[in-house]
Amino acid sequence: MEAHPRLDFSNTAIAFAGKSDQELRKSYWMFRLMNAKWLVETLSALAPLALKLRLPIDPMVKATVYDQFCGGESIAGCEKSMTELSRYGIGTILDYSVEGKESEAEFDACQAEIIRTIQKAKGDACIPFSVFKTTGVVRFGLLEKLNEGAVLNADEQAEWERAQRRVDGIAKAAFEAGQPLFIDAEESWIQDAIDALATEMMERYNREAPIVYNTIQLYRHDRLAYMKKAFANAREKGYWYAVKLVRGAYMEKERERAAEKGYPSPIQPDKASSDRDYNAALAFCVEHIEHMAVCSGSHNEDSNRLLAELMSKHGIDHKHPRIWFAQLKGMSDHISYNLAHAGYQVAKYLPYAPVRAMLPYLIRRAHENTSIAGQMSRELSLIVAERKRRKA
Ligand SMILES: Cc1cc2nc3c(=O)[nH]c(=O)nc-3n(C[C@H](O)[C@H](O)[C@H](O)COP(=O)(O)OP(=O)(O)OC[C@H]3O[C@@H](n4cnc5c(N)ncnc54)[C@H](O)[C@@H]3O)c2cc1C
Repeated sequence: MEAHPRLDFSNTAIAFAGKSDQELRKSYWMFRLMNAKWLVETLSALAPLALKLRLPIDPMVKATVYDQFCGGESIAGCEKSMTELSRYGIGTILDYSVEGKESEAEFDACQAEIIRTIQKAKGDACIPFSVFKTTGVVRFGLLEKLNEGAVLNADEQAEWERAQRRVDGIAKAAFEAGQPLFIDAEESWIQDAIDALATEMMERYNREAPIVYNTIQLYRHDRLAYMKKAFANAREKGYWYAVKLVRGAYMEKERERAAEKGYPSPIQPDKASSDRDYNAALAFCVEHIEHMAVCSGSHNEDSNRLLAELMSKHGIDHKHPRIWFAQLKGMSDHISYNLAHAGYQVAKYLPYAPVRAMLPYLIRRAHENTSIAGQMSRELSLIVAERKRRKA
Protein backbone atom coordinates (compact mmCIF):
# COMPACT_ATOMS: atom_id res chain seq x y z
CA MET A 1 0.00 0.00 0.00
CA GLU A 2 1.11 3.53 -0.77
CA ALA A 3 2.48 5.57 2.18
CA HIS A 4 0.30 8.55 3.09
CA PRO A 5 0.61 11.42 5.57
CA ARG A 6 -1.07 10.76 8.95
CA LEU A 7 -4.70 11.82 9.29
CA ASP A 8 -5.04 14.70 11.76
CA PHE A 9 -8.27 16.71 11.94
CA SER A 10 -6.70 19.26 14.29
CA ASN A 11 -4.32 20.45 11.57
CA THR A 12 -5.84 23.86 10.80
CA ALA A 13 -2.96 24.85 8.49
CA ILE A 14 -4.11 22.15 6.04
CA ALA A 15 -7.80 22.70 6.78
CA PHE A 16 -7.62 26.35 5.71
CA ALA A 17 -4.78 26.15 3.18
CA GLY A 18 -7.22 27.31 0.48
CA LYS A 19 -8.14 30.51 2.35
CA SER A 20 -6.15 33.74 2.26
CA ASP A 21 -5.93 35.81 5.47
CA GLN A 22 -8.64 38.05 4.13
CA GLU A 23 -10.96 35.15 3.29
CA LEU A 24 -10.34 33.65 6.71
CA ARG A 25 -11.23 36.98 8.33
CA LYS A 26 -14.47 37.07 6.38
CA SER A 27 -15.37 33.51 7.46
CA TYR A 28 -14.48 34.45 11.04
CA TRP A 29 -16.99 37.32 11.06
CA MET A 30 -19.63 35.20 9.39
CA PHE A 31 -19.39 32.37 11.87
CA ARG A 32 -19.17 34.87 14.72
CA LEU A 33 -22.45 36.41 13.65
CA MET A 34 -24.02 32.97 13.11
CA ASN A 35 -22.88 32.00 16.59
CA ALA A 36 -25.43 34.44 18.00
CA LYS A 37 -28.65 32.45 18.27
CA TRP A 38 -30.89 35.50 18.64
CA LEU A 39 -29.49 37.01 15.45
CA VAL A 40 -29.95 33.86 13.40
CA GLU A 41 -33.49 33.45 14.73
CA THR A 42 -34.42 37.06 13.98
CA LEU A 43 -32.93 37.06 10.49
CA SER A 44 -34.46 33.71 9.54
CA ALA A 45 -37.87 34.93 10.72
CA LEU A 46 -37.49 38.13 8.68
CA ALA A 47 -36.15 36.51 5.49
CA PRO A 48 -39.51 35.20 4.14
CA LEU A 49 -41.04 38.66 4.74
CA ALA A 50 -38.16 40.37 2.95
CA LEU A 51 -38.73 38.04 0.00
CA LYS A 52 -42.46 38.74 -0.03
CA LEU A 53 -41.89 42.49 0.05
CA ARG A 54 -39.28 42.08 -2.71
CA LEU A 55 -36.68 43.91 -0.62
CA PRO A 56 -33.28 43.95 -2.34
CA ILE A 57 -31.58 41.53 0.06
CA ASP A 58 -29.73 39.54 -2.64
CA PRO A 59 -26.41 41.45 -2.59
CA MET A 60 -26.16 41.21 1.20
CA VAL A 61 -26.99 37.49 1.27
CA LYS A 62 -24.64 36.83 -1.65
CA ALA A 63 -21.67 38.54 -0.04
CA THR A 64 -22.11 36.66 3.25
CA VAL A 65 -23.72 33.25 3.86
CA TYR A 66 -24.23 32.49 0.16
CA ASP A 67 -20.51 32.82 -0.59
CA GLN A 68 -19.67 30.64 2.38
CA PHE A 69 -22.06 27.77 1.65
CA CYS A 70 -22.84 27.88 -2.09
CA GLY A 71 -20.96 27.44 -5.33
CA GLY A 72 -22.79 29.98 -7.51
CA GLU A 73 -26.06 30.66 -9.27
CA SER A 74 -25.46 28.25 -12.17
CA ILE A 75 -23.15 25.40 -13.18
CA ALA A 76 -20.83 27.91 -14.86
CA GLY A 77 -20.91 30.05 -11.70
CA CYS A 78 -19.48 27.09 -9.73
CA GLU A 79 -16.26 26.82 -11.78
CA LYS A 80 -14.17 28.89 -9.38
CA SER A 81 -15.15 26.84 -6.31
CA MET A 82 -14.69 23.58 -8.23
CA THR A 83 -11.18 24.53 -9.36
CA GLU A 84 -10.31 25.65 -5.85
CA LEU A 85 -11.44 22.32 -4.32
CA SER A 86 -9.69 20.27 -6.98
CA ARG A 87 -6.39 22.07 -6.26
CA TYR A 88 -6.50 20.31 -2.90
CA GLY A 89 -7.61 16.94 -4.26
CA ILE A 90 -11.27 17.41 -3.26
CA GLY A 91 -14.07 16.53 -5.67
CA THR A 92 -17.23 18.52 -6.30
CA ILE A 93 -20.82 17.27 -6.22
CA LEU A 94 -22.96 19.84 -8.06
CA ASP A 95 -26.16 20.10 -6.03
CA TYR A 96 -28.96 21.98 -7.77
CA SER A 97 -30.78 23.19 -4.70
CA VAL A 98 -34.21 24.56 -5.57
CA GLU A 99 -36.86 23.42 -3.09
CA GLY A 100 -40.63 23.33 -2.71
CA LYS A 101 -41.57 23.21 -6.40
CA GLU A 102 -45.01 21.85 -7.27
CA SER A 103 -45.75 22.15 -11.00
CA GLU A 104 -45.02 19.72 -13.82
CA ALA A 105 -43.17 22.45 -15.74
CA GLU A 106 -40.91 23.08 -12.72
CA PHE A 107 -40.26 19.34 -12.35
CA ASP A 108 -39.33 19.06 -16.04
CA ALA A 109 -37.01 22.07 -15.72
CA CYS A 110 -35.37 20.54 -12.64
CA GLN A 111 -34.88 17.20 -14.41
CA ALA A 112 -33.24 19.00 -17.35
CA GLU A 113 -30.90 20.86 -14.97
CA ILE A 114 -29.92 17.65 -13.11
CA ILE A 115 -29.13 16.02 -16.46
CA ARG A 116 -26.95 19.05 -17.29
CA THR A 117 -25.00 18.45 -14.04
CA ILE A 118 -24.48 14.83 -15.13
CA GLN A 119 -23.29 15.87 -18.57
CA LYS A 120 -20.96 18.42 -17.03
CA ALA A 121 -19.53 15.69 -14.76
CA LYS A 122 -19.08 13.10 -17.52
CA GLY A 123 -15.44 12.12 -17.71
CA ASP A 124 -14.39 14.92 -15.31
CA ALA A 125 -12.49 13.42 -12.38
CA CYS A 126 -13.15 16.62 -10.37
CA ILE A 127 -16.87 15.75 -10.21
CA PRO A 128 -17.02 12.18 -8.90
CA PHE A 129 -20.79 12.14 -8.15
CA SER A 130 -24.01 13.77 -9.25
CA VAL A 131 -27.04 14.12 -7.00
CA PHE A 132 -30.75 14.88 -6.90
CA LYS A 133 -33.68 15.03 -4.53
CA THR A 134 -36.75 13.07 -5.64
CA THR A 135 -39.01 15.94 -4.50
CA GLY A 136 -37.26 18.15 -7.05
CA VAL A 137 -38.87 16.09 -9.83
CA VAL A 138 -41.91 14.45 -8.20
CA ARG A 139 -44.73 16.12 -6.24
CA PHE A 140 -44.37 15.61 -2.47
CA GLY A 141 -48.10 14.92 -2.02
CA LEU A 142 -47.98 12.18 -4.65
CA LEU A 143 -45.03 10.48 -2.96
CA GLU A 144 -46.92 10.72 0.34
CA LYS A 145 -49.94 9.00 -1.17
CA LEU A 146 -47.80 6.22 -2.64
CA ASN A 147 -46.06 5.80 0.69
CA GLU A 148 -49.42 5.29 2.40
CA GLY A 149 -50.29 2.63 -0.15
CA ALA A 150 -53.34 4.68 -1.25
CA VAL A 151 -55.00 3.86 -4.57
CA LEU A 152 -54.25 6.52 -7.19
CA ASN A 153 -57.01 7.93 -9.36
CA ALA A 154 -56.53 8.08 -13.16
CA ASP A 155 -54.98 11.57 -13.13
CA GLU A 156 -52.60 10.65 -10.33
CA GLN A 157 -51.68 7.43 -12.10
CA ALA A 158 -50.75 9.44 -15.21
CA GLU A 159 -48.81 11.91 -13.05
CA TRP A 160 -46.95 9.02 -11.40
CA GLU A 161 -46.01 7.55 -14.78
CA ARG A 162 -44.56 10.93 -15.83
CA ALA A 163 -42.70 11.17 -12.52
CA GLN A 164 -41.19 7.70 -12.92
CA ARG A 165 -40.08 8.60 -16.45
CA ARG A 166 -38.38 11.72 -15.07
CA VAL A 167 -36.45 9.73 -12.45
CA ASP A 168 -35.57 7.08 -15.01
CA GLY A 169 -34.39 9.79 -17.42
CA ILE A 170 -31.94 11.06 -14.79
CA ALA A 171 -30.67 7.58 -13.84
CA LYS A 172 -30.35 6.61 -17.53
CA ALA A 173 -28.33 9.78 -18.25
CA ALA A 174 -26.02 8.86 -15.35
CA PHE A 175 -25.70 5.29 -16.64
CA GLU A 176 -24.88 6.44 -20.17
CA ALA A 177 -22.33 8.93 -18.85
CA GLY A 178 -20.82 6.31 -16.48
CA GLN A 179 -21.42 8.90 -13.75
CA PRO A 180 -22.29 7.78 -10.18
CA LEU A 181 -25.51 9.39 -8.93
CA PHE A 182 -26.82 9.90 -5.38
CA ILE A 183 -30.54 9.92 -4.62
CA ASP A 184 -30.87 11.97 -1.42
CA ALA A 185 -32.99 10.69 1.47
CA GLU A 186 -35.94 12.80 2.68
CA GLU A 187 -38.82 12.61 5.21
CA SER A 188 -39.85 9.13 6.44
CA TRP A 189 -43.42 9.61 5.22
CA ILE A 190 -42.22 9.68 1.60
CA GLN A 191 -39.04 7.61 1.98
CA ASP A 192 -40.58 4.17 1.20
CA ALA A 193 -41.66 5.56 -2.17
CA ILE A 194 -38.14 6.99 -2.73
CA ASP A 195 -36.54 3.68 -1.67
CA ALA A 196 -38.75 1.79 -4.14
CA LEU A 197 -37.69 4.12 -6.97
CA ALA A 198 -34.02 3.94 -5.96
CA THR A 199 -34.14 0.13 -5.79
CA GLU A 200 -35.71 -0.05 -9.24
CA MET A 201 -33.01 2.26 -10.65
CA MET A 202 -30.20 0.27 -8.98
CA GLU A 203 -31.62 -2.97 -10.35
CA ARG A 204 -31.80 -1.43 -13.84
CA TYR A 205 -28.52 0.49 -13.99
CA ASN A 206 -26.12 -1.13 -11.48
CA ARG A 207 -25.58 -4.42 -13.32
CA GLU A 208 -22.00 -3.69 -14.33
CA ALA A 209 -20.93 -0.91 -11.97
CA PRO A 210 -22.32 1.03 -9.00
CA ILE A 211 -24.06 4.00 -10.68
CA VAL A 212 -27.18 4.72 -8.62
CA TYR A 213 -26.72 5.21 -4.85
CA ASN A 214 -29.62 5.24 -2.40
CA THR A 215 -29.21 7.18 0.88
CA ILE A 216 -29.59 5.56 4.31
CA GLN A 217 -30.44 7.75 7.33
CA LEU A 218 -29.07 6.13 10.46
CA TYR A 219 -31.01 8.43 12.81
CA ARG A 220 -33.90 6.10 12.00
CA HIS A 221 -33.92 3.01 14.19
CA ASP A 222 -34.98 0.69 11.35
CA ARG A 223 -32.41 1.68 8.72
CA LEU A 224 -29.43 -0.50 9.59
CA ALA A 225 -31.60 -3.61 9.23
CA TYR A 226 -33.14 -2.16 6.04
CA MET A 227 -29.70 -1.57 4.52
CA LYS A 228 -28.54 -5.14 5.26
CA LYS A 229 -31.72 -6.54 3.69
CA ALA A 230 -31.34 -4.29 0.63
CA PHE A 231 -27.74 -5.46 0.26
CA ALA A 232 -28.80 -9.14 0.42
CA ASN A 233 -31.53 -8.44 -2.14
CA ALA A 234 -29.03 -6.81 -4.52
CA ARG A 235 -26.65 -9.77 -4.15
CA GLU A 236 -29.46 -12.20 -4.89
CA LYS A 237 -30.57 -10.28 -7.97
CA GLY A 238 -27.01 -9.71 -9.19
CA TYR A 239 -26.56 -5.93 -9.14
CA TRP A 240 -24.21 -3.58 -7.26
CA TYR A 241 -25.56 -2.20 -4.01
CA ALA A 242 -24.47 1.42 -3.54
CA VAL A 243 -25.23 3.69 -0.58
CA LYS A 244 -24.58 7.11 0.80
CA LEU A 245 -24.73 6.95 4.60
CA VAL A 246 -25.96 9.97 6.59
CA ARG A 247 -27.34 10.47 10.07
CA GLY A 248 -30.37 12.40 8.79
CA ALA A 249 -31.52 16.00 8.49
CA TYR A 250 -35.20 16.07 9.53
CA MET A 251 -35.09 14.92 13.16
CA GLU A 252 -37.26 17.62 14.73
CA LYS A 253 -39.83 17.52 11.98
CA GLU A 254 -40.00 13.70 12.25
CA ARG A 255 -40.50 13.73 15.99
CA GLU A 256 -43.09 16.51 15.87
CA ARG A 257 -45.15 14.78 13.19
CA ALA A 258 -45.05 11.44 15.01
CA ALA A 259 -46.21 13.10 18.26
CA GLU A 260 -48.91 15.08 16.49
CA LYS A 261 -50.29 12.07 14.60
CA GLY A 262 -49.78 9.65 17.46
CA TYR A 263 -47.49 7.06 15.86
CA PRO A 264 -44.13 5.85 17.29
CA SER A 265 -41.27 8.13 16.22
CA PRO A 266 -39.06 6.56 13.54
CA ILE A 267 -36.07 8.37 15.08
CA GLN A 268 -33.60 6.70 17.43
CA PRO A 269 -34.17 7.38 21.16
CA ASP A 270 -30.93 9.36 21.51
CA LYS A 271 -27.84 10.65 19.69
CA ALA A 272 -25.68 7.74 20.95
CA SER A 273 -28.03 5.27 19.19
CA SER A 274 -27.72 7.20 15.90
CA ASP A 275 -23.93 7.23 16.28
CA ARG A 276 -23.85 3.49 17.08
CA ASP A 277 -25.90 2.58 14.00
CA TYR A 278 -23.98 4.98 11.75
CA ASN A 279 -20.70 3.41 12.79
CA ALA A 280 -22.13 -0.12 12.50
CA ALA A 281 -23.28 0.73 8.96
CA LEU A 282 -19.76 1.91 8.08
CA ALA A 283 -18.32 -1.37 9.40
CA PHE A 284 -20.86 -3.41 7.43
CA CYS A 285 -20.07 -1.56 4.19
CA VAL A 286 -16.30 -1.94 4.59
CA GLU A 287 -16.69 -5.65 5.38
CA HIS A 288 -18.80 -6.15 2.22
CA ILE A 289 -16.94 -3.72 -0.04
CA GLU A 290 -16.21 -6.43 -2.61
CA HIS A 291 -19.89 -6.32 -3.55
CA MET A 292 -20.92 -2.73 -2.86
CA ALA A 293 -19.97 0.95 -2.88
CA VAL A 294 -20.25 3.46 -0.04
CA CYS A 295 -19.97 7.18 0.52
CA SER A 296 -19.97 8.43 4.11
CA GLY A 297 -21.72 11.84 4.23
CA SER A 298 -20.81 13.18 7.64
CA HIS A 299 -19.25 16.06 9.57
CA ASN A 300 -18.67 13.86 12.61
CA GLU A 301 -14.95 13.53 13.32
CA ASP A 302 -15.28 10.14 15.08
CA SER A 303 -17.21 8.57 12.19
CA ASN A 304 -14.76 9.92 9.61
CA ARG A 305 -11.83 8.66 11.66
CA LEU A 306 -13.54 5.31 12.12
CA LEU A 307 -13.98 4.81 8.38
CA ALA A 308 -10.28 5.55 7.86
CA GLU A 309 -9.39 3.06 10.62
CA LEU A 310 -11.69 0.38 9.20
CA MET A 311 -9.98 0.77 5.85
CA SER A 312 -6.55 0.27 7.46
CA LYS A 313 -7.80 -2.69 9.47
CA HIS A 314 -9.00 -4.41 6.29
CA GLY A 315 -5.85 -3.49 4.36
CA ILE A 316 -7.82 -1.28 1.94
CA ASP A 317 -5.95 1.41 0.03
CA HIS A 318 -6.94 5.03 0.76
CA LYS A 319 -7.91 5.47 -2.87
CA HIS A 320 -10.21 2.47 -3.07
CA PRO A 321 -12.59 3.41 -5.92
CA ARG A 322 -15.74 2.41 -4.00
CA ILE A 323 -15.10 4.16 -0.67
CA TRP A 324 -15.68 7.90 -0.48
CA PHE A 325 -16.05 10.58 2.17
CA ALA A 326 -18.27 13.65 1.65
CA GLN A 327 -19.06 16.93 3.39
CA LEU A 328 -20.94 20.11 2.49
CA LYS A 329 -19.31 23.24 1.03
CA GLY A 330 -18.41 25.75 3.72
CA MET A 331 -18.52 23.22 6.55
CA SER A 332 -15.98 20.91 8.15
CA ASP A 333 -13.07 21.87 5.91
CA HIS A 334 -10.83 20.50 8.66
CA ILE A 335 -12.28 17.07 7.83
CA SER A 336 -12.37 17.36 4.02
CA TYR A 337 -8.93 18.96 3.53
CA ASN A 338 -7.18 16.71 6.05
CA LEU A 339 -8.76 13.57 4.57
CA ALA A 340 -7.66 14.62 1.07
CA HIS A 341 -4.18 15.47 2.38
CA ALA A 342 -3.93 11.97 3.88
CA GLY A 343 -4.81 10.49 0.45
CA TYR A 344 -8.49 9.58 0.91
CA GLN A 345 -11.18 10.20 -1.70
CA VAL A 346 -13.26 13.17 -0.60
CA ALA A 347 -15.92 15.29 -2.27
CA LYS A 348 -18.03 18.24 -1.20
CA TYR A 349 -21.65 19.05 -2.10
CA LEU A 350 -21.58 22.39 -3.89
CA PRO A 351 -25.14 23.71 -3.68
CA TYR A 352 -26.07 26.13 -6.41
CA ALA A 353 -29.18 28.08 -7.45
CA PRO A 354 -30.21 31.74 -7.61
CA VAL A 355 -29.74 33.54 -4.27
CA ARG A 356 -33.42 33.68 -3.36
CA ALA A 357 -33.98 29.99 -4.10
CA MET A 358 -31.12 29.15 -1.71
CA LEU A 359 -32.60 30.96 1.31
CA PRO A 360 -34.24 27.89 3.00
CA TYR A 361 -30.95 25.98 2.64
CA LEU A 362 -28.92 28.90 3.98
CA ILE A 363 -31.22 29.32 6.98
CA ARG A 364 -30.71 25.62 7.86
CA ARG A 365 -26.91 26.03 7.67
CA ALA A 366 -27.06 29.16 9.86
CA HIS A 367 -29.11 27.32 12.50
CA GLU A 368 -26.61 24.45 12.48
CA ASN A 369 -23.82 26.91 13.30
CA THR A 370 -25.41 28.80 16.20
CA SER A 371 -23.84 28.37 19.61
CA ILE A 372 -24.78 25.52 21.91
CA ALA A 373 -24.98 26.67 25.56
CA GLY A 374 -22.98 29.80 24.89
CA GLN A 375 -19.96 27.97 23.45
CA MET A 376 -18.25 28.78 20.19
CA SER A 377 -19.44 26.60 17.31
CA ARG A 378 -16.86 24.08 16.08
CA GLU A 379 -16.35 25.96 12.81
CA LEU A 380 -15.70 29.21 14.67
CA SER A 381 -13.23 27.70 17.12
CA LEU A 382 -11.24 26.14 14.25
CA ILE A 383 -11.07 29.49 12.44
CA VAL A 384 -9.97 31.19 15.66
CA ALA A 385 -7.22 28.56 16.11
CA GLU A 386 -5.97 29.05 12.54
CA ARG A 387 -5.95 32.86 12.80
CA LYS A 388 -3.91 32.55 15.99
CA ARG A 389 -1.50 30.12 14.31
CA ARG A 390 -0.99 32.51 11.37
CA LYS A 391 -0.30 35.44 13.67
CA ALA A 392 2.20 33.50 15.81
C1 LIG B 1 -22.42 14.93 1.95
C2 LIG B 1 -23.68 14.94 2.77
C3 LIG B 1 -24.87 14.50 2.20
C4 LIG B 1 -26.06 14.51 2.95
N1 LIG B 1 -27.21 14.02 2.41
C5 LIG B 1 -28.33 13.91 3.17
C6 LIG B 1 -29.51 13.27 2.69
O1 LIG B 1 -29.58 12.81 1.55
N2 LIG B 1 -30.58 13.20 3.53
C7 LIG B 1 -30.56 13.66 4.82
O2 LIG B 1 -31.54 13.51 5.55
N3 LIG B 1 -29.44 14.28 5.29
C8 LIG B 1 -28.35 14.41 4.51
N4 LIG B 1 -27.22 15.02 5.03
C9 LIG B 1 -27.26 15.69 6.36
C10 LIG B 1 -26.96 14.69 7.47
O3 LIG B 1 -28.05 13.80 7.54
C11 LIG B 1 -26.80 15.31 8.86
O4 LIG B 1 -27.88 16.12 9.18
C12 LIG B 1 -25.60 16.15 9.08
O5 LIG B 1 -24.53 15.76 8.31
C13 LIG B 1 -25.18 16.07 10.56
O6 LIG B 1 -24.77 14.75 10.94
P1 LIG B 1 -23.25 14.30 11.05
O7 LIG B 1 -23.08 12.89 10.62
O8 LIG B 1 -22.46 15.29 10.31
O9 LIG B 1 -22.85 14.27 12.58
P2 LIG B 1 -23.23 14.88 13.97
O10 LIG B 1 -23.13 16.36 13.90
O11 LIG B 1 -22.43 14.13 14.95
O12 LIG B 1 -24.72 14.45 14.19
C14 LIG B 1 -25.82 15.26 14.15
C15 LIG B 1 -26.96 14.37 13.71
O13 LIG B 1 -27.18 13.31 14.66
C16 LIG B 1 -28.57 13.01 14.75
N5 LIG B 1 -29.02 13.35 16.12
C17 LIG B 1 -28.74 14.49 16.84
N6 LIG B 1 -29.34 14.46 18.05
C18 LIG B 1 -30.00 13.27 18.12
C19 LIG B 1 -30.84 12.68 19.10
N7 LIG B 1 -31.10 13.30 20.27
N8 LIG B 1 -31.38 11.47 18.84
C20 LIG B 1 -31.14 10.83 17.67
N9 LIG B 1 -30.35 11.35 16.70
C21 LIG B 1 -29.80 12.54 16.91
C22 LIG B 1 -29.25 13.92 13.72
O14 LIG B 1 -29.34 13.20 12.52
C23 LIG B 1 -28.30 15.09 13.58
O15 LIG B 1 -28.40 15.74 12.32
C24 LIG B 1 -26.03 15.01 4.29
C25 LIG B 1 -24.83 15.46 4.85
C26 LIG B 1 -23.66 15.42 4.11
C27 LIG B 1 -22.41 15.90 4.76
